[in-house]
Amino acid sequence: MPSPFLNPAASTAADGLAIVHLRRDNLMPVILEAQEADKEEKVTTTRFGSFPHSTLIDQPWGSQIVASQVHGGRAKKSSTKRKADEALGDGGDTSFKSAASGFIHVLPPTPESWTAGLPHRTQVVYTPDYSYILHRLRARPGTTLIEAGSGSGSFTHAAARAVFNGYPSSSSSSSNKKQRRRMGKVCSYEFHEQRAGKVRDEIKDHGLEEVVFPTHRDVYADGFLLGDDPKTRQSPKATAIFLDLPAPWLAIKHLVRSPADGSVSPLDPSSPAYICTFSPCMEQVQKTISMLRQHGWLNISMVEVNHRRIEVRREYYGLGNEGVRRAIVFPKSVDEAVGKLRLEEARQKEYRKMQKGNSNTQQKDGTGAGAEAEAAGNDDALKSEVESDQVPLYAQGRLVHRTEPDLKTHTSYLVFAILPRVWSDEDERKCRETWPSHD
Ligand code: SAM
Repeated sequence: MPSPFLNPAASTAADGLAIVHLRRDNLMPVILEAQEADKEEKVTTTRFGSFPHSTLIDQPWGSQIVASQVHGGRAKKSSTKRKADEALGDGGDTSFKSAASGFIHVLPPTPESWTAGLPHRTQVVYTPDYSYILHRLRARPGTTLIEAGSGSGSFTHAAARAVFNGYPSSSSSSSNKKQRRRMGKVCSYEFHEQRAGKVRDEIKDHGLEEVVFPTHRDVYADGFLLGDDPKTRQSPKATAIFLDLPAPWLAIKHLVRSPADGSVSPLDPSSPAYICTFSPCMEQVQKTISMLRQHGWLNISMVEVNHRRIEVRREYYGLGNEGVRRAIVFPKSVDEAVGKLRLEEARQKEYRKMQKGNSNTQQKDGTGAGAEAEAAGNDDALKSEVESDQVPLYAQGRLVHRTEPDLKTHTSYLVFAILPRVWSDEDERKCRETWPSHD
């Protein structure tokens, strides 16, 4: 079955994974279940209401689904609810009223929506980090990528999509090896038994088993060769490596061209290898860099992805009754906005009271009425100028920016390095043969 992560269909389907979008920061993965005869219908209950799966199945991706009024929820019917239903004449064993309080959207599973909604078993790598990492690792269709540890499988899904090179067609069994497409692979290692099992199950449920090869392994001790029997293990021939481990430097001794124990290298000898390690503190970074240097890795660099959405806008210049332009800083929340409005109202009331007091005194001595009218006139003129867009941009306020603090990203330091490809005497000879002669 094609994976919905690699080849999404046009609409939701029974037994398929859907991502229920409650809010921008609240996504929920749900396997949609068709109702079986004589069985209670599966219902997904959210803070925005209840959604029987029959209302979610066969919907185009992105559809808005309104919470259900009535569904066959025999078992969930509470006694109070039943009484209310009976009073409404809606009683009976197979239906009850549920508050239709809102709606949700059904989204197709993608690595991004999976990362935002997945069940966390560990810290995960978020989209801003993994998109940059995959780019720096040159992960592309056909790449073989090593990942350790698998953790919650967040990076695994993104890597699978990046290296996926299409499903093998029946003609790919052709004997002409040169024409055979190189299948992309993610070899994912995890030493925690339950997590390794969970990742294996998820990969199968998500139809990714042709791309992701999970292995339960302590990579510090046993490295990255494929297979359970140490005597017959094979090289995955990787060109990209991502280590999200507590001590990545302990795994680097296995990521060499000629391992000290005489075993085969897990790296592709015909290509440079690109590595990224993900560590939360500088001491770990230093240990990793030192080990990379000792094992011949080059171009070592460190990056911290500080992803922020920056909101840029012009601060509005409001007009006060005083007839002067005043900058109004946009409120950060509804509460702050209401507070500011109240303050402004109180200030204006106070000002009008003061003006009235002044004009009474001034009218008595023959001044003031004209000044007040003039101030009000100035204010109106400025207001209409701004409203009709005649005020030049610079006078409408200054540009401000604010960062969005709630964007999820687990800040870590990314260390990148490259191990050049193997260069043999034979390679040198072949290369020289193709050089133009300068004799
Ligand atoms: N990158 C993952 C993701 O995006 O979901 C999260 C990885 S999590 C931070 C680190 C994982 O490394 C843990 O699940 C841990 O069990 C695993 N781990 C730690 N030491 C290991 C070792 N020696 N071999 C393999 N896995 C290991």
